[in-house]
Amino acid sequence: MKKDSVTILGGGLCGSLLSVLLARRGMKVTLLERRPDPRKAGDVGGRSINLVVSARGIHALKHAGVFDKVESLMVPMAGRMIHDDDGATELQAYGQKEDEVIHSVSRGGLNNALLDCAEADSNVTIRFEQEAVSYYPEEKTVRVRDHAKGNDYDINASPLIAADGAGSVVRRALADPDKLSGTEELLGHSYKELAIPAGADGIFQMDPGALHIWPRGGYMLIALPNPEGDFTLTLFFPSEGELSFASLDSDQKVADFFDTNFEDAVPLIDDLLGTWNSNPVGILGTVRCKHWHDGGDLLLIGDAAHAVVPFHGQGMNLAFEDCVVLDQVLDNPDADWETVFEVFEKEQIANANAIADMALENYIEMRDTVRDPQYVLRKELSFALERRLPNRFIPRYSMIMFHNEISYATAQERGDVQQRLLEELTEGIDSIDKIDIDEAVKIIETRLPPVH
Ligand SMILES: Cc1cc2nc3c(=O)[nH]c(=O)nc-3n(C[C@H](O)[C@H](O)[C@H](O)COP(=O)(O)OP(=O)(O)OC[C@H]3O[C@@H](n4cnc5c(N)ncnc54)[C@H](O)[C@@H]3O)c2cc1C
Repeated sequence: MKKDSVTILGGGLCGSLLSVLLARRGMKVTLLERRPDPRKAGDVGGRSINLVVSARGIHALKHAGVFDKVESLMVPMAGRMIHDDDGATELQAYGQKEDEVIHSVSRGGLNNALLDCAEADSNVTIRFEQEAVSYYPEEKTVRVRDHAKGNDYDINASPLIAADGAGSVVRRALADPDKLSGTEELLGHSYKELAIPAGADGIFQMDPGALHIWPRGGYMLIALPNPEGDFTLTLFFPSEGELSFASLDSDQKVADFFDTNFEDAVPLIDDLLGTWNSNPVGILGTVRCKHWHDGGDLLLIGDAAHAVVPFHGQGMNLAFEDCVVLDQVLDNPDADWETVFEVFEKEQIANANAIADMALENYIEMRDTVRDPQYVLRKELSFALERRLPNRFIPRYSMIMFHNEISYATAQERGDVQQRLLEELTEGIDSIDKIDIDEAVKIIETRLPPVH
């Protein structure tokens, strides 16, 4: 691809990382962002305070040469700490190798660092307070509102890369369902954030080496550590219904609900009722599109193309993987933008659909199945099988979180075969000692080819 000019809409996680990569190729990048500069204005209503970054995200940050700028923002987590109803805790390791950890990272800190990296390249111009208000597919133009100057102007999309998030104005402006416009499926469960502050002398009040979960069947509370010693808590809960955000409509009901369900967390939470009343309820959903590009004029990327629910901690990781894939497709010196967008879409759309499905499934696992002894047995067995067949049987969670070289679509496909095998091998069995591992290995060798 020859050197060119490109407009990126949205200076969030995806848009800022993509700016770094395209500018490195010598392209002139104009990045338009709706918000005021978050580095000056502070974080203005980001969607979550911290995020899980795993192998795909780290690979992308390294690929862009910016990992050293963000590494200090990350807190490693080696497993899930399950908090039972009776207050008992149990650590379930995510992987079985030393480097098989995931990381908690501040969304605002990461976004600011990536904006710094983009701005450091003279090929990038970042313009804040520039909001796309509409996209006109016939004319291939975007109408932008300049909130700083108070006027509107049109820009030519040639090309425009829309990284304007799950509620993408550009995607929604495309009315033709056979083209780009996608489906937006709300989950019916929403979330609210609370906080556990650092204890005396800035010390964590719970183990910072784990992602804490209070699984309660139909809903769950989770906590991720921050480098400053505090935790961000998120309640994932039905939006409507008998026990839901809508039903907890008084301080007394909120307090009773937490005392009944999260007894061990309550004494640690900072101003439960004050935070509950001031923090918004965020919606969750999945966006799927038939296509992500309009010829060589427009491409949707990141959440704008494929928002997924957060239960596998993969939305940003997938958006970062998009940036790497697009960058690699641009290696072809003869490709025009239409070809680049087409190849990119072909490579990533099945992956986005696969992780969208797996993220939905993982909500059930996190809020419910993790407490099931059969789940624990199958996890133990899958680790045992991975030790025997490291190139053939890799637990699905590990393929998604630790193996960026295995695509999400492959992880889904192999994961289905593995799940059936695990169910067969553990049927009517309550302990791993009762499973003939040699026999299991033989069965797997006949049904599952090696990964690479
Ligand atoms: C509760 C929750 C927890 C999550 N946890 C994880 C996790 O642990 N791990 C993970 O990988 N992912 C997680 N995600 C998903 C992750 O937040 C997204 O996948 C990621 O932010 C996508 O990046 P993006 O740049 O595509 O979109 P966004 O981060 O939404 O960025 C879009 C940018 O575009 C700007 N913008 C929007 N509209 C316009 C407009 N009209 N004009 C100009 N600019 C505009 C916005 O201001 C923003 O800066 C979570 C999401 C939620 C809701």
